[in-house]
Amino acid sequence: MPKNSPFTDAILSWYDRNGRHDLPWQHPASPYDVWLSETMLQQTQVATVIDYFQRFKSKFPDIPSLAQASLDEVMQLWAGLGYYRRAKHLHEAAKIMAKKHSGRVPSSLEDLMALPGIGQSTAGAILSIAYQKPCAILDGNVKRVLCRHYGIRGWPDSTLTLKQLWPLAESLTPNKDCHRYAQAIMDFGAVLCTRNKPNCQACPIQKSCYAFLQQCIEQLPEKKPRAKVPEKTLHFWILQRDNGDIFLTQRPPLGIWASLWAFPEGEPPMSNLAEYHKQTLSPFLHLLTHFRLTIKATLVHIGKQNLAEIKLAGTWCAPHTVGKTLGVPKPITKLITQL
Ligand code: SF4
Repeated sequence: MPKNSPFTDAILSWYDRNGRHDLPWQHPASPYDVWLSETMLQQTQVATVIDYFQRFKSKFPDIPSLAQASLDEVMQLWAGLGYYRRAKHLHEAAKIMAKKHSGRVPSSLEDLMALPGIGQSTAGAILSIAYQKPCAILDGNVKRVLCRHYGIRGWPDSTLTLKQLWPLAESLTPNKDCHRYAQAIMDFGAVLCTRNKPNCQACPIQKSCYAFLQQCIEQLPEKKPRAKVPEKTLHFWILQRDNGDIFLTQRPPLGIWASLWAFPEGEPPMSNLAEYHKQTLSPFLHLLTHFRLTIKATLVHIGKQNLAEIKLAGTWCAPHTVGKTLGVPKPITKLITQL
């Protein structure tokens, strides 16, 4: 069996001494738990994920229960975690696993990567951690560590840089202990070789680290070439009855906040709007990865009418129940607190 590289051995022994060994998805690291946690951990910190993971697991303990749930139930548990396409993909993938893979997470790279929301790195994590098959992973934390330690230039998500990173990640993955190494290298990036102020003084691979030796830690990994973030304005119509109830409608399955519940947006939801008393709320900014949104809203006092005029399908609910029963995006929660 080929020997581990000194880098791999150093990361493994660092993990034994300093890694996180008590996360709720580690004992046992079942394929479902690893898949769920890896999906939640994309773009999200461990501390935030723990609660969401536990709530999700108690409602959907396995793939069949997740596959049978409605998208609304899934979205409701996901609300606040952001990047909602992850939840949609999770739900779609669970349905496929229930149908095609006897309700199990598949154990081949090909089958995993054919599922919605599972890229090569998540597939690698599932195979290494849950099935103990040596497969490389390359999440954001791992990319940062490798770019710094091996002095790899270029934005890590560019095709050219990935062509260097994947073979490197593969060459560092041990045959034995691949499950420990997968967790170790992700943890190392998350805890020690952090984006800002990495703890180089405590780093076991400092002596061989290109970025440390060349004093260019802040320049690696290189940033994405800047593209201007598009700006967009969303205008919401908050219809409110005398008893305080508000009207929510489900957003389309594609686009911003897909399938979550929100106030009607864009065109006025009724033709006889002029008949009602209206109030403009203070606009505010909301930043998404791909958009800079200005949120505007008009509160429409509806009175007691039964509102046959509303053009959209939707539901009336008391403001304090929103979020408990329906998944809503953050700006909607913020607007509700303004009421
Ligand atoms: S020396 Fe610093 S920059 Fe290099 S791998 Fe260690 S923590 Fe990261």
